[in-house]
Amino acid sequence: MKKLLGILVLGLLWSGPVVASCSDFLDFSWKFVGKDRVTHVNSSNAHYAEFTFKSTSDKTIRINFVRLTTADGKIVKKDEYVDFYIKPFGKDSDLMYGMKSLNLDVVTSGGYSCRFENQPAKKTSTTNSNKSNNTEESPALVLLVVFAIIGFIIYKLVGSKNNPDSNFTSKSQPASSKYQVSPNKNLQKNTVKILSVKEFNKKIKNYIPSHQVASLPRIGDVEGQEFQCGCGKSHIMNFNQHYFIADGGIYKAVFLSPACGYLNALKLKGPMTTGIKNLCSTKYLANKPKYGFNDYPDIAGSIDKYFK
Ligand SMILES: [Zn+2]
Repeated sequence: MKKLLGILVLGLLWSGPVVASCSDFLDFSWKFVGKDRVTHVNSSNAHYAEFTFKSTSDKTIRINFVRLTTADGKIVKKDEYVDFYIKPFGKDSDLMYGMKSLNLDVVTSGGYSCRFENQPAKKTSTTNSNKSNNTEESPALVLLVVFAIIGFIIYKLVGSKNNPDSNFTSKSQPASSKYQVSPNKNLQKNTVKILSVKEFNKKIKNYIPSHQVASLPRIGDVEGQEFQCGCGKSHIMNFNQHYFIADGGIYKAVFLSPACGYLNALKLKGPMTTGIKNLCSTKYLANKPKYGFNDYPDIAGSIDKYFK
């Protein structure tokens, strides 16, 4: 009897202070999507895997990684994140690339890892007393951040060398992150050519609309880079907010930015350049038939894919 009581008390103590896990607050789902990045498809037609998180927590949750696994738990593909945060009661999603080159028959489930963590403050003034943030970070993480900053500075230096006519300097932006929307007022201002939709149509008449391209151009690594938009601001490339509309070959592509209402023909990068260059822009005429475009190339059909 004493033994039984002991077990009972131990059991009660054991189950007492249950610490809620971040995953208890995340409504997680994943699916395969086609090359338009939107349509849900089966694994044989998958170009991407989309992972979606909806938070019911009043705290910020950081997603460490997402992964696809086999029935016996082996990892087929894993994407690790440095700065993927779900804000309080927020939602967000991310695309995993490279599904075309994987045998997805073996994938039975998708998963993720998370932890409660505040998003590091965007650098405003470094003298602020946020030292407490650093105390919990592991040395490896600190090293990673240091390398990221060094890499970024080198990247900026190389970029400014290769584009002598741009005002892109390494001074103004010491650090960057995927979600840091920091329109640098000096950045290539007034260099964006704004065309009428007819002129724009002429410029891109040899482009292939995204829903007609046989294989997606290799544009995966431009996410996180800044580009000048026809709206006069600069944006951070993110395929959830800037839709891939047409492929012009040789790293050229048209993107639609529905939030500000501009179509931009961008040169993503090439052997001799870094960064994204704006070739020309036009206002997005959302209410015009075919958005003001001609029948060929079928730009309207490509845009429709994102809204239907
Ligand atoms: Zn814009």
